Amino acid sequence: MRVRLLFPTPEIAREFYVPIIYTACRTCYSELEPDEIFRRATSGQVGTAKQQELVKRVIESGHGSTIEHVVFTFAISGVTRTLSHQLVRHRVGVAFDQQSQRYVNYKRPAYMVPGTLEGAEPALRERYVEEMDDALRFYGELLAAGIPGEDARFVMPNATRTNLLMTINLRALIHVSGLRLCTMAQWEIRRLFQLIRHEVFAVSPFLGSFLAPKCVPLGYCDEAGNRDGHCPIRPHKDVVLAAWAEKRDDARRLGRELPTL
Ligand SMILES: Cc1cc2nc3c(=O)[nH]c(=O)nc-3n(C[C@H](O)[C@H](O)[C@H](O)COP(=O)(O)OP(=O)(O)OC[C@H]3O[C@@H](n4cnc5c(N)ncnc54)[C@H](O)[C@@H]3O)c2cc1C
Repeated sequence: MRVRLLFPTPEIAREFYVPIIYTACRTCYSELEPDEIFRRATSGQVGTAKQQELVKRVIESGHGSTIEHVVFTFAISGVTRTLSHQLVRHRVGVAFDQQSQRYVNYKRPAYMVPGTLEGAEPALRERYVEEMDDALRFYGELLAAGIPGEDARFVMPNATRTNLLMTINLRALIHVSGLRLCTMAQWEIRRLFQLIRHEVFAVSPFLGSFLAPKCVPLGYCDEAGNRDGHCPIRPHKDVVLAAWAEKRDDARRLGRELPTL
């Protein structure tokens, strides 16, 4: 698997990304026109720390439109169709282009062997490799017999490698990373988002710091599959609510009511 951030470059991210988001935030509350706010931000008249402080506050408050103004374009290669099928389920604030199994007549389509099979019984691994090779050989035979690529591809397994270009705005990137960096996500797509996070960090440690499993900004885990607490990143919401109920009962014993909504 390979991920490269094609855009923005470090220079563009440094010079424009926080100022653009800052301009979006300030425009809401300022008498100044947006181009003047942007000029002050890019000329250093308003310092980076001050801009970042506002941007952080706005992001943490969930005012998401302000961070839709900046986008990231990633070249993603050597991932499986299993991964790409999950990735393209994201519909908002994101654009994909993917290698076509219809128009590309693969001379030799490649596939991935998952780690669990790498470490499994040798016979099982051999069988897996045979089945994949057979399917992909059959694909070649179908093409050779004049079956069009768009139909020959029906025999390709989920393990087949693919490439995509993904452009995503920061709001969507934070949302999708929240889901896909979660330990409940499938390992391959989780790995992809770890690499994506690494790439964003390389051009902007400040913006990269917002890419985290969704439990980190929430403060608790909302995944039903983690009721047993096997993932320790944040306590499950049931634990948090039970702790709150205990505090409420303690207060009631003392004749007080805790404030509620
Ligand atoms: C751990 C995990 C397991 C999963 N397992 C399965 C599975 O077994 N089967 C399966 O089919 N899918 C599965 N999914 C996919 C999941 O159901 C979503 O389709 C996918 O994560 C896309 O997320 P999203 O809906 O937030 O979409 P995005 O397109 O990223 O949307 C972003 C946000 O915009 C809003 N939004 C988008 N579209 C609409 C709309 N039409 N109406 C209203 N609001 C909208 C929502 O608030 C949404 O959260 C899984 C995902 C994860 C992370």
